[in-house]
Amino acid sequence: MKSKGIVYLVGAGPGDAGLLTVRGAELLGRAGVVVYDALVNKELLRLAPPEAELIDAGKRSSDHAIPQARLNELLVDKARAGQCVVRLKGGDPYVFGRGGEEAEELAAAGIAFEVVPGVTSSIAGPNYAGIPLTHRDFCSSFTVVTGHEDPDKEGLEVDWSQVAQASGTKVILMGVTRVKSISQALIDHGMSASTPVAMICWATTGRQQTVTGTLATIAEVAEKAGFKPPGLTVVGEVVRLRDKLNWFEKRPLFGRRIVVTRTRAQAGPLSRLLLERGADVLEIPTIRILPPTGQYEIADALLELNAYDWLVFTSPNGVAAFFELFFKAFEDLRDIGGVRIAAVGPATADKLRGLHLKVDATPKKFVASNLAAAMAEQGSLENLKVLLLRAEVANRDLPKQLEEMGAIVDDIACYKTVPETDDRNGAVARLLETGADWITFTSSSTVENFNARIELKPLLARYPDIKLASIGPETSKAILTLGLKPDLEAKEHTTDGLVKAIEAAPLR
Ligand code: SAH
Repeated sequence: MKSKGIVYLVGAGPGDAGLLTVRGAELLGRAGVVVYDALVNKELLRLAPPEAELIDAGKRSSDHAIPQARLNELLVDKARAGQCVVRLKGGDPYVFGRGGEEAEELAAAGIAFEVVPGVTSSIAGPNYAGIPLTHRDFCSSFTVVTGHEDPDKEGLEVDWSQVAQASGTKVILMGVTRVKSISQALIDHGMSASTPVAMICWATTGRQQTVTGTLATIAEVAEKAGFKPPGLTVVGEVVRLRDKLNWFEKRPLFGRRIVVTRTRAQAGPLSRLLLERGADVLEIPTIRILPPTGQYEIADALLELNAYDWLVFTSPNGVAAFFELFFKAFEDLRDIGGVRIAAVGPATADKLRGLHLKVDATPKKFVASNLAAAMAEQGSLENLKVLLLRAEVANRDLPKQLEEMGAIVDDIACYKTVPETDDRNGAVARLLETGADWITFTSSSTVENFNARIELKPLLARYPDIKLASIGPETSKAILTLGLKPDLEAKEHTTDGLVKAIEAAPLR
């Protein structure tokens, strides 16, 4: 049977990646093709399988990267070719943004489709600025209108006199550049010039910015603030609640742009901590993890796994890479045998515990040289076989120390790293365009790899306000080696410690 293609029109939510629906995440996870809009949070693309084709439909007001007609054709063609297509649209697919038209095209072409609702910016945006659209003390309805008519469409003018007369809160999408004429129109049609107004751009993301005023003043306030799209405007008494309910913008790191430098696989926990504190996180991957060049050695080691007394892991990447290879060779975790397990530091140990493996040795101070001592605490290493699972290029200190303690060491590469050049989430472009408050480094290799991708000295010359945050002494040393100085070194050498230190640092 020929496989049948299908198109899922999926609402990506307003920006905060956490606001994608469970259904949306599930469908992204099995997409063959993802066609996404400019306002979609690019981090969501990571949910798609690595081999999925990603197409940037890049729609930004007036300059459509792919014309709508061509886009509709593309969806139809991909589905006809048997693909599972996820059409990822900002907010909710059926609130402006032409989701209805795309669905009509699919229906007309006889393509199977499903539309997955999304959290619309018209509701979530005000929420993240501390504004509920309805409230028993103020109003019991709201109206959502577009402030920017589609130039291709005739006869669908917004009737501002009706909007002005409607009771309740008004939310205006796509009206940032026209706020002056819109607020004037609302006043002309009978609304009080002192009605409270808020404008929110990049709502629900770390770049969110909110300004407030009244119908009389908002245009000037927005202009002074250099307010730019994408943004929305909320008009009504509910705006007053913002003083009390502004939970998002009060987060400790709100408004701070922080670069996280790690591998794709590892950035998660640090980014999450920062995001939860309201930071604008630019996750810049510097290296990509690939299988080792020659795989014979690791294949041999896997076949003789039960001959080893210790498995030693020196990075979370090593753990991930090893178990990927392990499960290619074996179906059952019990094939790992009774071997003891050592981890060089807490992140590596956590990764192992995440697989429900007990870690028998971790040094108190997180450097390779202390690991041998921690292992020896469990009994002499004399004549014990140790399998060291590391990156292709790794220094000789650890195997040397283990050998000096009598161990027989096999130092085997289970992955290699290559420089990352892709800028899938656009973070590199944003850093180069706007600078940042902090660049975080969590190991000496993140320093070296970051510097190989984006040279730090010229970057700091261009943006002297950027500060460097180091997780600990080894990492700081790597920064000093580049002729630079860390502005902060975490007291506790963990991601938690690093975040705490940034939180405690003075603003400037
Ligand atoms: N379907 C989308 C709206 C598409 S129209 C939804 O349901 O949210 C695009 C407009 O949505 C933008 O011009 C802006 O007015 C608004 N918008 C989308 N995301 C936004 C965000 N993160 N912050 C503020 N406004 C946003």
